[in-house]
Amino acid sequence: MALRPIIILPDPKLRLVSAPVGHVDDALRKLLDDMVETMHDAPGIGLAGIQIAEPIRVLVVDLAKKEEPPAPQFFINPEIVWSSEERSVFEEGCLSIPEYYAEVERPARVRARFVDREGKPQEVEAEGLLATVLQHEVDHLDGVLFIDHISKLKRDRVIKKFVKAAKRASEEAPAL
Ligand SMILES: [Zn+2]
Repeated sequence: MALRPIIILPDPKLRLVSAPVGHVDDALRKLLDDMVETMHDAPGIGLAGIQIAEPIRVLVVDLAKKEEPPAPQFFINPEIVWSSEERSVFEEGCLSIPEYYAEVERPARVRARFVDREGKPQEVEAEGLLATVLQHEVDHLDGVLFIDHISKLKRDRVIKKFVKAAKRASEEAPAL
């Protein structure tokens, strides 16, 4: 397994629409393992392929608490096929928008179809944190970020902050 660098705002790749996975093979499973290692290291509870610059429709999620053993879940070609009218609000963050958190309202429950790491079709009904994480991560596959669900004023402010930070970092980078 290998750690992969996580891309952050304002990297334009975060706005790409990821392509469906054709078939599940060892190379894909290796990528999923790298994603899990990268997510655990960050640490985070969900990671989409595009966040390590792989524009394919794969997600890893791990909702195990610190004192519990890791319990990674794998979602290949995930699709939200139903969402509840009932909505809930969670404070969200994103490994690609480090140290920024905001409340986001989304459907409280969803049903998702996906393919597992064995290549078998699966369906899951999710509520609570898993429902939020799945929606947040599936959004990534369509180039959507959680800040797209907050007010334009707040979104513009956070984007500006990250653009400035990226500019500063590039100016400080040593010339090679
Ligand atoms: Zn995210």
